[in-house]
Amino acid sequence: MSTLRFHAIKETLNRKPVKVKEKIRRSSLFGENVFNDATMRQSLTKDAYKSVNDAIDKGSKIDRGIADQIASAMKDWALSKGVTHYTHWFQPLTGATAEKHDAFFETIGNGLAVEKFGGGQLVQQEPDASSFPHGGIRNTFEARGYTAWDPTSPAFIYGTTLCIPTVFVSYTGEALDYKTPLLRALQSIDHAAVAVAKYFDKNVKKVNASLGWEQEYFLIDSALATSRPDIILTGRTLLGHLPAKGQQLDDHYFGTIPNRAMSYMRDLETECMLLGIPVKTRHNEVAPNQFELAPIYDEANLAVDHNSLLMDVMEKIAARHNFTVLMHEKPFAGVNGSGKHNNWSLGTNTGINLLSPGKTPMSNLQFLTFFINTIKAVHDHEELLRAAIASASNDHRLGANEAPPAIISVFIGEQLTKVLEELEGVTKGKLSPEEKTELKLNVVGKIPEILLDNTDRNRTSPFAFTGNKFEFRAVGSKANCANPMTVLNSIVAKQLIEFKKEVDALIANKDMKKDDAIFNVIREYIKTSKNILFEGNGYGDDWQKEAKKRGLSNNKTTPDALKARVSRQTINLFEELGVMNEVEIKARYEIQVEEYTMHIQIESRVLGDIARNHVIPTAVNYQNVLIDNVKGLKDIFGTGFKKHAKEQLEIIVDISRRIEAINSGVTEMTNERKKANKIEDTEKTAAAYCKKVKPFFEDIRYHCDKLELLIDDELWPLTKYRELLFTK
Ligand code: ADP
Ligand code: MG
Repeated sequence: MSTLRFHAIKETLNRKPVKVKEKIRRSSLFGENVFNDATMRQSLTKDAYKSVNDAIDKGSKIDRGIADQIASAMKDWALSKGVTHYTHWFQPLTGATAEKHDAFFETIGNGLAVEKFGGGQLVQQEPDASSFPHGGIRNTFEARGYTAWDPTSPAFIYGTTLCIPTVFVSYTGEALDYKTPLLRALQSIDHAAVAVAKYFDKNVKKVNASLGWEQEYFLIDSALATSRPDIILTGRTLLGHLPAKGQQLDDHYFGTIPNRAMSYMRDLETECMLLGIPVKTRHNEVAPNQFELAPIYDEANLAVDHNSLLMDVMEKIAARHNFTVLMHEKPFAGVNGSGKHNNWSLGTNTGINLLSPGKTPMSNLQFLTFFINTIKAVHDHEELLRAAIASASNDHRLGANEAPPAIISVFIGEQLTKVLEELEGVTKGKLSPEEKTELKLNVVGKIPEILLDNTDRNRTSPFAFTGNKFEFRAVGSKANCANPMTVLNSIVAKQLIEFKKEVDALIANKDMKKDDAIFNVIREYIKTSKNILFEGNGYGDDWQKEAKKRGLSNNKTTPDALKARVSRQTINLFEELGVMNEVEIKARYEIQVEEYTMHIQIESRVLGDIARNHVIPTAVNYQNVLIDNVKGLKDIFGTGFKKHAKEQLEIIVDISRRIEAINSGVTEMTNERKKANKIEDTEKTAAAYCKKVKPFFEDIRYHCDKLELLIDDELWPLTKYRELLFTK
């Protein structure tokens, strides 16, 4: 009998939901472990408090004396909560978070010691970070990257450590992390959007990009997950036959949350509350054992930090509940994958959501301006947006026939489509007073009403407008949101800058009124960016053909998709906005291409091992059982045995055939891997892994999965899909 699998199953039979202690009012826990505004107000001097707020609002520098005061207040607050260590917390390009703890403790001679934490330690640290990916920016022998405090994201306590969110930059000033370019992109969109918003309201001084992510994930019993080498090493199953029952009954989606999962969620939510992550929504997702968690949206930089922190917390809490969290985009073939919808909007300091229609025609013109500029930005940079969500794991969703597809398109719903059609017909040049009145009353003025009963939902669209925000749905569940958010905010910033130039030119050179100029520019945008709008079903061939006709990119694999990250257009975009320079852009590209290769390489090795060490030996064992059986039949029945052994003989032959296919598949795949490894050029190596190595996965899997159906269940060593997915 296959011991590990059955041992794991037995283990799960005795599981009970873990008891969790909960306060009734969550609001009383919220932000308890965060050095937030309220805490700062209490513990800082007026000057220090103002200084932090200026840094947050205006990006101004905090001087050293003040930094000392802040550090000292932070330390006292942390010590009062039992904290012993502090760390600069950052997000290197591995996609995970990084931390290196130092104790507050310091000796002061004569056998004495104190707790110390100064402004210097708060503001900057030099982790020996030579092993983080840097794409050639920083040679390993001059490992002088440093981390610098980001006051826009508050410090927090995790366990017994004070975590200080920081950026991570090289000694020569290049960004080595996800946060630095994001902060720069957020600053560009702030400036660009404020300039445009001032057409409508002179009081606008600041625009914040908001992000509300929705995190999908699978919860698998940890004993079962650990019994699968592929899950442990790659985060997904590389083989496994679909169970007789999958998700076809749709009985999991929004169903009652299973007890153990519920207890996990409660525990997780309590931790999130303490950390100031405003989680609000939880529910079952489409696939069995798949769930979703969503917070109330927040300023984008903070929301990104929260999501990175959350992914870490999710794993830690899962261990307490004997679960393994699968954050992978496609842990199970044939079962729904996971995404991380990025809900995005722009909010002003005056409390207006620029992507939400207002009550007056003027505020609706403002809405239309931002709405259409966003569409135009996506249209002009669709390939870069696709590149922003590319990863080996997300390819399984975007490249396969699963929603959303690898083609970027924008869904806006039938009603807004009609509005855009009307606006496309606006007269060129100055508008007559009648036309303007008509537009304001019957087109622009009617928008809030039409959106009220807007029940349009398109689940297959990668980028959808949902009433007062855009929802970027193609982001992978495992991804750090910083990357897609950097791209989205940059392309919209760039577009708004262009828009402002065009409108101002019409006002200055053609003597147009402001709204005439705006109508004129958005009319042209509607015409030139129509191709990106798509209301239909994103699955299947029809849309692929149609998209091709429209000239939209359809990069199904990561190596193909990533190329847009280093195109001239991209380099110009990021350099113009000051988000990244060419060195930073190329380094990132290099890192991502290498990362792709490594992922496929690891998967290929694991698959080869499992196929040869688990599947083939099991197949041989079972075949021997059958051979013994046939021999026995021969003993009993003599020459007439074939009549009774017919089926067994067929299975014996079938097993041999499949063993042959698997073994030769693994050999050929290994040879392709060796060839790919010899290629010097990283881009070509990735292409070889994608086009020469990866195609073997399906073939090898196909035969392994057939054997799973054939072989005695008692002998099968790999925990099956039905066990992984239906154990609650
Ligand atoms: P669903 O997409 O599952 O129907 P919702 O649309 O209600 O769920 O919300 C999903 C996420 O969008 C939540 O995190 C929510 O806070 C966020 N969200 C709501 N309004 C905005 C907004 N104006 N800007 C950014 N995110 C928003
Ligand atoms: Mg959503």
